Amino acid sequence: MTRMGPIVRRGGCVLGSRSSPSAPTAVAGRKPTAAANRPPVRSVMIDRRALADIADHGFDGLESVFALFGVTHPDGAVQVMFAADVSAERTRETSSVQVSFARLAGWNKRIAGIRDCELIGDLHIHPRDHGTVANPSRADLKWWRSQLARSSRPFWIGAVAQRPYDADAAWLTPTVTTFVIWKDDAGRTDCCVLDAELEPRR
Ligand SMILES: [Zn+2]
Repeated sequence: MTRMGPIVRRGGCVLGSRSSPSAPTAVAGRKPTAAANRPPVRSVMIDRRALADIADHGFDGLESVFALFGVTHPDGAVQVMFAADVSAERTRETSSVQVSFARLAGWNKRIAGIRDCELIGDLHIHPRDHGTVANPSRADLKWWRSQLARSSRPFWIGAVAQRPYDADAAWLTPTVTTFVIWKDDAGRTDCCVLDAELEPRR
């Protein structure tokens, strides 16, 4: 039997601003000012291989969700090496999708043998949105928080891919907005936007 995760549904934007997220930007007005409240992730790089995984599977006009596997370097740089489609096929719609935990478990097994590589987050597609900075829904944020709680790791990466403005560029070079969700020293869950660096195509 396939166990389903909560619906990742768009709508009810929580991030109020579409301003450039070049520096960590607090959600809902909270700024990570104190050192203790800084995210445990300095930067996110998405490897070409992972982008190809997304481009191969994700862009048919319906939402898809991918598990992100990668490594965290000692300086806090996160490198996403693989993106595995974990969409529950029959739940895919234009504005929502559910995770198949069976598919996720299968990928976890396959990745387990790769040194230092582990599940660090997820990425889903907003197929109807163009733009620079994605607006996650309340459900997106709730889902990411639940994944952080489930994980033994100190953070969770929640990413959203959108169609770039240049239609010809299509999905080989999607716009990716990356959110870092973590617990601060006081045990509160924080979330901020980080620029994701996409490894250039050859
Ligand atoms: Zn979403």
